[in-house]
Amino acid sequence: MNSNFLQTPIVYLKGVGPNRADLLKKELGIHSFQDLLNLFPNRYLDRTQYYKIAQLQQTNAEVQIVGKITHIKTVEQKRGKRLVATFKDETGQIELVWFRGQKWIRESLKINKPYVIFGKTNYFNGSFSMPHPEMELVETHEKSIRSAMQPVYPSTEKLGNSGITNRVINTLMQQLFIESKNNFAETLSKPLLEELKLVSKKDALFNVHFPKSQAHLARAQYRLKFEELFYIQLQLVRKNLLHKSKIKGYTFDKIGDNFNTFFSKHLPFELTNAQKRVIKEIRNDLGSNAQMNRLLQGDVGSGKTIVALMSMLIALDNGFQTCLMAPTEILSIQHYTGLIELCDNLNISIELLTGSTKTSKRRKIHEKLENGKLDILIGTHALLEDKVKFKNLGLAIVDEQHRFGVEQRSKLWHKGGASEEVRGAIPPHILVMTATPIPRTLAMSIYGDLDISVIDELPPGRKDIKTVHRFDANRLKVFHFIKDEISKGRQVYVVYPLIQESETMDYKDLMDGYESITRDFPLPEYQVSIVHGQMKPADKEYEMNRFVKGETQIMVATTVIEVGVNVPNASVMIIESAERFGLSQLHQLRGRVGRGAEQSYCILMTSHKLSADAKTRLETMVRTSDGFEIAEVDLKLRGPGDMMGTQQSGVLNLRIADIVKDSEILKIARSYAMQVLKADPNLSSEENIPIKNTYARLVKYRNIWNYIS
Ligand code: ADP
Ligand code: MG
Repeated sequence: MNSNFLQTPIVYLKGVGPNRADLLKKELGIHSFQDLLNLFPNRYLDRTQYYKIAQLQQTNAEVQIVGKITHIKTVEQKRGKRLVATFKDETGQIELVWFRGQKWIRESLKINKPYVIFGKTNYFNGSFSMPHPEMELVETHEKSIRSAMQPVYPSTEKLGNSGITNRVINTLMQQLFIESKNNFAETLSKPLLEELKLVSKKDALFNVHFPKSQAHLARAQYRLKFEELFYIQLQLVRKNLLHKSKIKGYTFDKIGDNFNTFFSKHLPFELTNAQKRVIKEIRNDLGSNAQMNRLLQGDVGSGKTIVALMSMLIALDNGFQTCLMAPTEILSIQHYTGLIELCDNLNISIELLTGSTKTSKRRKIHEKLENGKLDILIGTHALLEDKVKFKNLGLAIVDEQHRFGVEQRSKLWHKGGASEEVRGAIPPHILVMTATPIPRTLAMSIYGDLDISVIDELPPGRKDIKTVHRFDANRLKVFHFIKDEISKGRQVYVVYPLIQESETMDYKDLMDGYESITRDFPLPEYQVSIVHGQMKPADKEYEMNRFVKGETQIMVATTVIEVGVNVPNASVMIIESAERFGLSQLHQLRGRVGRGAEQSYCILMTSHKLSADAKTRLETMVRTSDGFEIAEVDLKLRGPGDMMGTQQSGVLNLRIADIVKDSEILKIARSYAMQVLKADPNLSSEENIPIKNTYARLVKYRNIWNYIS
C-alpha cells in the first residue's frame, strides 16, 4: 500500500461527510486515513469469548471467565479492609477483590455455584486478580443477550452528541480496512521483527482494531507500543549524535594550574566516587571538539556545586570565561559567597550580577566581562540580558534548571564571544544541574538528546533525616520538641503551602501560623523570621540573612525557601498542611535540613482528612529519602505530563504506549534505536529502508512528537 493512500483526507472515506470530517478533526485530531488508523482503542469489551484462567494475558482488556468461588475472606490492611474471594476453574485460580459494598456482596455470593465473571484483571507477582468484577450465575447469564467483542475508542461528549458513537467509529474503521485491503506497509526492519519476535504491521493493525483473541491483541499492542517508542527514541538518539558531529565546541584539552592547585591543595573534602565519575564525564566532553550539552542530576545535598566549580576551573585553565546561573537572588548569593570561599587561594576574579546590582557596579562588571578581566560571573537571569557580553564564554552552568525555560537556556548559546562575528559561531559548553530527580525512563524521553550524568551518592557522614507524620492535634508536642532543639542551639523552618488559586487564604494561614508561633515562642528568648512571596525582595533578603547568620531561631516561610538555600545549623523542617504539597516539593523542602553534623528532623503536619494519594505521598516521605525512589512514586501518582509542569506537558502524548507502564518496552526501544543508528547512522542499508521511510514520513507529517529544540 503506498503511503499516499494513508495521507488521504478523512473526508474522502466512505461514510464521512464534511460535517463528520470537521468533528473528527476538531475532537480527535483526525485529518487523514493515517490518523484514523492510529486511533487506538482505550479498551475492549469481550463478551463473546470465555477465557480459561490459564490463558489470561497481561493486556488491559476485560475478560470473561466461568468458574466457582471456593473461598471468601476479609483481609485487613492499614489502608482498610477488602473482601477477597478465591475463584477457580479447572485450569487455575484468581482472586476477586472488593473494596466497596463488602457486606452486601459477601452476603450475596454463593460458594461452589458456577458464575460468569467479567472485568479487567491485574497481574501481580505471578498471579491475577479482578477488582469489582461484573458477575452473574451461569443460569441467569445464559438467558441474557451478549454483544460481540468491541474495541472502545477514545471519544468526547461532543462526538457522542453528534451521533459519532463508538459503533460509528468502528464502522469507519472497517471501511478503512476494506478500502486498504489491509495491505499496510511494514514499518520496521526484518532483523528487528525477527530478533524481537514482533508481529507484522498488518497483523498488528488488524488485531488492535479487530482482535481475534486476547493473545493476538497482546502481541499487536506490544508491537505497536514498541514501534511508537522506537521512533521517538530514534529521533532523540539521532539528534544527540548529529549534535555531536555537527555542533563544534571549544576543545579544553588543558588541565592546568587552577584545576590542579585546587584539586591538590584546596579541595575541602574527599570527593565521592559519584562526584569523581561525573567530573570525568564532564572532562571528556570538554576535551572533545563537540559542544557539551549535559544534564547533571543529583539529589539535594549530593554535592553538585563542587562539580560545577571544578568544571569552571577547567574552562579557566583553557583561557575561557564561565558563568553560573541560578533561579533566585538568594541562591546566586549563596553560590557567590560559597565559591569566593572555595577559590580564596586561587587567583580568580568572581562577580555577582542580579536584578538588584547597582548601576555603577553593573557597568564595571560589563566592562570586565568584555575585556576579559572577569573569570567567573554568577547571577540570576540578569545574566541573560543583552547588555551582558562576554569576551569568550566557554562554559555556562545552569543550576536548578526546572525553574528556567528552554528559551532562556538557549540564550546562553549566543553569548560565546563579544564581537558580532564571533558570538554565536561556537556556542559555550552547557551544563544543566537539577536537584529534581527524574525517573530514568522519563529522562530518556524528555532529555533523550542530552547526555545525562547522575550523582547517586551522598557525601559520607550524612545522617538520615528522621521523618515523621503528625496530626494537627499533636501540635503542642511538636512545639515542645522544637523548644528542645532550639535550646541545643539548632534552628527551625516552619513552611506553609502557597498555591496560586487561594493565595489570600494561604496568606491568612501563614499569618495565623506566624502569630501562633510568636505567641508560643515569645521575645526576647526567641526570634522569629518570616519570609513570603508578598514581601519586597530587599525585606526578604534581610529576613533570610538574619536566619542564615543565626540571629533568628525560627524561619516561618512559604515555599520560597524551597530551592537550594543552605543553612547547615537548621535541623528541623516542619511542613504545615503537608497533604497539600506534591512529593517532589516535600522532598526538596526536606533537603533544606540535614546539611550539618547534627541529627535532623522533618515533621509533616496534616489534618485528619487525607486522600488516598496524600496518604501515599506521606508514607513515601516517611519511608525513604531516596530522591529517585520518590520520583518514581510521584510519576506513578501524577503521570508524566503533570510531573514535568506545563512547560513540557503534552510532550508525552503517546498514542498507545504508556511511559510509566511500558517502561520496560521503552528501555528496549531505546537500546535498539541506539544499536540501529550505531551500525547505520544514515539508515542507508537495504534492511533499514522501512525504518528510513517511516522516519522520514513521521518527520514530514509531524506525526512524531516534536521535541523542543
Ligand atoms: P547540592 O547538590 O544540593 O547543590 P551542595 O553542592 O550544596 O549540594 O553540597 C551540599 C553540602 O555538602 C555542602 O555543604 C558541600 O560542601 C558538602 N559536600 C559536597 N561534596 C562533599 C564531599 N564529597 N564530602 C563532604 N562534603 C561534601
Ligand atoms: Mg545546589
